[in-house]
Amino acid sequence: VIRCRAAVAWAPGKPLSVEEVEVAPPKAGEVRIKLVATGICRTDEHLLRGCFPNAEFPVIPGHEGAGIVESVGEGVTSMKPGDKVIPLCIPQCGECSFCRNPESNFCQKSHMSEPQNLLPDKTSRFSCKGKQIHHFLWISTFAEYTVVPEYAVAKIDAAAPLDKVCLFGCGFSTGYGAAINTAKVKPGSTCAIFGLGGIGLSVVMGCKSAGASRIIAVDINKDKFAKAKELGATDCINPQDFKKPIQEVLTEMTGQGVDYSFEAIGHQDTMIAALASCNMSTGIRVMIGELDSGSAISIDPTLLLTGRTWKGTVLGGSWKMRECIPKLVSSYLEKKFNSDLLITHTLPFAKVNEGFELL
Ligand code: NAD
Ligand code: ZN
Repeated sequence: VIRCRAAVAWAPGKPLSVEEVEVAPPKAGEVRIKLVATGICRTDEHLLRGCFPNAEFPVIPGHEGAGIVESVGEGVTSMKPGDKVIPLCIPQCGECSFCRNPESNFCQKSHMSEPQNLLPDKTSRFSCKGKQIHHFLWISTFAEYTVVPEYAVAKIDAAAPLDKVCLFGCGFSTGYGAAINTAKVKPGSTCAIFGLGGIGLSVVMGCKSAGASRIIAVDINKDKFAKAKELGATDCINPQDFKKPIQEVLTEMTGQGVDYSFEAIGHQDTMIAALASCNMSTGIRVMIGELDSGSAISIDPTLLLTGRTWKGTVLGGSWKMRECIPKLVSSYLEKKFNSDLLITHTLPFAKVNEGFELL
């Protein structure tokens, strides 16, 4: 058993508390990882507010980390202590029908098919003050050590800087993959991205690398526009600067609406606006933002009748996580894109609550 620090959420709506926790050794088929860096994603904040489906407390959040294998359980063959790794919140078992389908990354052997905050054997490796603490998405990266099933870990290049490539665990891969894999953005096309957080800015990068000719970035926070332009946005607009609805503005700007629209915020109204912003015939609107569990959206069905497509995406569409994340890390090391530009602040672990305030 390892004693180390972790940020524990004891109850919904409370700040995280940095505690000493016990982390049990990995069981058969599991890997214990010493985490070196983690990002903060809006999804962690959904969890802290108690708005994540089926989440149980107390829980150790975090799902965007990178680290080094500390020890492996019986039967683990694909990695050894000392390997650099990224824990995956969507695993790749390699055997289920989705893993065998090139169009899907949604492994059926995941916490999403069987929602629970425990490891696959329905036990936890974390405890604190004599209480069992739940895992989050199986990976709980707000801890100095975590235990993860082997098929939810990607081994990456030993040269990778862990404080930079931790973003590949969620934000960068989600946004970039939404453009490349889910929308399959074509060269010369027009795109609109609603929300310029870590996810939306990664979508901008994906649209740019796919060769989109017009990339329109939409946010109510003007401070995001300089970075969006640097990453490839051709236009930046603030819905609050217009009297008419933003979908009408985008339709006027592009003639008939964009070819692809992406929602990376997580609000009902912007989800509908994104749908109405893409062209009525071939427009594809990709939903990335998450709504609170139990919420519903009502839309005018004629928006879809003429041919528009509404798609969802989780962690970058068809990235096969164990195979593709190491390849994305290699492309980063070859300087094919600069995801470092997504990093706005770097804080010591004890200041995790300050990180959420900054977010
Ligand atoms: P973030 O909070 O960093 O960014 C959201 C951005 O939206 C901010 O820049 C904010 O100013 C802007 N915004 C807020 N309200 C707006 C409005 N009405 N109009 C225009 N812009 C507005 O969030 P993030 O970490 O980038 O995550 C974005 C969303 O994606 C969240 O809902 C998150 O839960 C979700 N997410 C989904 C996946 C997935 O796999 N599908 C993965 C990670 C995160
Ligand atoms: Zn995330």
